[in-house]
Amino acid sequence: MGDVLVLNATYEPLSVVSVKRAVVLLLKEKAELIETATAMLRAENFSLPRPLVIRLVYYVKIPRRVALPVSRRGILSRDQYTCQYCGDTPPRKDLTLDHVLPRSRGGKSTWENVTTACQKCNGRKSNRTPAEANMTLLTNPQRPRYIAIASLGNAEATQAWGKYMGD
Ligand SMILES: [Zn+2]
Repeated sequence: MGDVLVLNATYEPLSVVSVKRAVVLLLKEKAELIETATAMLRAENFSLPRPLVIRLVYYVKIPRRVALPVSRRGILSRDQYTCQYCGDTPPRKDLTLDHVLPRSRGGKSTWENVTTACQKCNGRKSNRTPAEANMTLLTNPQRPRYIAIASLGNAEATQAWGKYMGD
């Protein structure tokens, strides 16, 4: 059924939860509806518009922003399906994930160390760092802004979420 963006009491994006979890928060009056879809959710005891964005009634203090798991889908989307070495945009299935510092040399699978590469560039770079391979990255890989991941969802949700992403 998709996801719901949860805002902190301060309207800052906090988390993404399932519709089911969002409904529980709403029914327990721990959150309020901010943005809804046109579709309605109906159950025996209640009927309410499908939430897209909810806001917590009480402020939740979080030490860091919510961690987004690294995924192929996320990396390719962040890099706009473009090889970060040559700028080529082959069919998506021909794109590979490249560890900037190779895994064999301790490179981790983090947002900051994984980038999108076409097969040719990945092969050329091989087990080397970009400097060793004399290759330059078009962008420095970074943990994406929230919206990059959010945009993978449906269009209606993305639009509703966008207002709160400051992007
Ligand atoms: Zn390339």
